[in-house]
Amino acid sequence: MKTSQLVKKRTNFINKKKLYQLLDQKPISDSQTDQIFNKALKLKGLSLSDAAKLLTISDDEKLIKLLNCSSIVKNQIYGKRIVLFAPLYIANKCSNNCLYCGFRKDNKDLKRAVLSSDEIKNEVTSLLKEGHKRILMLTGESKESDIDYFIKAIDTAYSVRYNDSYIRRINVEIAPLEINDFKKLKEAKIGTYACFQETYDPEIYTKYHISGPKSDYEKRLFVMDTAMEAGIDDVGIGALFGLADYRFEVLSLIEHAKHLEKVFGCGPHTVSVPRLEPADNAPIANNVPYPVNDADFKKIIAVLRLTLPYTGIILSTRENESLRTELFNYGVSQISAGSRTNPGAYSEQCKNSGSQFSLGDHRSLDEVISGLIDIEHIPSFCTGCYRKGRVGNDFMDLAKPGLIKKFCFPNAIFTFNEYIEDYAQIETKNKGLKLIKRLVNEEKNINLKKRITNVLDKINNGERDIYF
Ligand code: SAM
Ligand code: SF4
Repeated sequence: MKTSQLVKKRTNFINKKKLYQLLDQKPISDSQTDQIFNKALKLKGLSLSDAAKLLTISDDEKLIKLLNCSSIVKNQIYGKRIVLFAPLYIANKCSNNCLYCGFRKDNKDLKRAVLSSDEIKNEVTSLLKEGHKRILMLTGESKESDIDYFIKAIDTAYSVRYNDSYIRRINVEIAPLEINDFKKLKEAKIGTYACFQETYDPEIYTKYHISGPKSDYEKRLFVMDTAMEAGIDDVGIGALFGLADYRFEVLSLIEHAKHLEKVFGCGPHTVSVPRLEPADNAPIANNVPYPVNDADFKKIIAVLRLTLPYTGIILSTRENESLRTELFNYGVSQISAGSRTNPGAYSEQCKNSGSQFSLGDHRSLDEVISGLIDIEHIPSFCTGCYRKGRVGNDFMDLAKPGLIKKFCFPNAIFTFNEYIEDYAQIETKNKGLKLIKRLVNEEKNINLKKRITNVLDKINNGERDIYF
């Protein structure tokens, strides 16, 4: 079937009027809140209408209850693991004019760069030296960074070796593609394809995306349909918080997830929750139309966690250390660490190439890992599911009954132990080893404990990249 025929069959799943009407209701009562929490604790997710009710919460007491409930759900499904990755910006040229982004075409002051293969190799080497295993590759949208350039960049990044380590999973975040180009991405063995709708409000979208291919709201809205039709198993959705009413964006993300589940039998693998940050020559970033305060941001994460319990939530270094640390408890399952948003920055090539926006967490990967150990979370670089083919529907089938813990927990421990052996600073190493020992001792399943101990012995004897 031709792509144009597929597009014709698509019906817009965002009903702006209906979503705003859902938000126009009295604050939720105590008994309604308890009812919804009881439902959420069954780990089967919530309806759109339940989520809308939770979004009416404005008093501290109910917010604390909501956060406690999301903490329980987070713990039950994900345990205390946090998956770590680094963004890799390979080009900052862009033909679009998103009014909030430092890369936008009309920012004439930005120093532009499109990394060569050698420069990409240097960037990847720098990330490997830090201990990274998973990257998110990004670009602006331009002829110079088209799909062929991008595929070459993926191949290059996968080919780099530093000692015996290499990048084990490349997720990508680029502009919408046509179906055949998505097929090329799949062949290049990407992990997740991510693309944020920015705002699901079509009028506001048009106002802030004033020119270039990205001004097409519907093309972006259906990008995940195109990607999944091309065979991409794992997709990541997101909204840029600050452009429109955050409650509308949360309901829209839920509608998007439910749409994908209905059409493809599998919802998004991840949802991202970027908040607008200051950026050079980006009027909307420096004068945010709908600022989201920290209390509302926590509510966003908690409502998403309860409504879409099996969808990973990604938090970037846009947020500061203390808020990030708190948000791990309420639902975040993946974070970036030691990030830079200007091409060439990790290896300090392309001096002064422009960054996309300013960051809130400037710690190195080791500092982030040290902080995670202090709050007894397990830093994970696991890529086991993706490499064993547990993706898309298969991943969800495993995740839903909670079986994933059998793979994710040991794999997290293995990759954490590798990090400690190969890259950790001495203080991180000492406290990290203690944490691993304690967690393994606490494992109640004797058989699993034995298997984990065997693999840890192998890692300590120099073997690498063992996963279940
Ligand atoms: N250029 C592609 C696109 O727009 O889809 C790839 C992603 S872009 C490099 C990464 C994301 O950064 C955007 O989708 C947007 O949500 C986010 N972003 C842009 N400007 C931002 C800002 N000032 N603060 C926070 N996030 C921003
Ligand atoms: Fe370009 Fe993406 Fe920035 Fe928009 S958000 S200007 S498309 S890099």
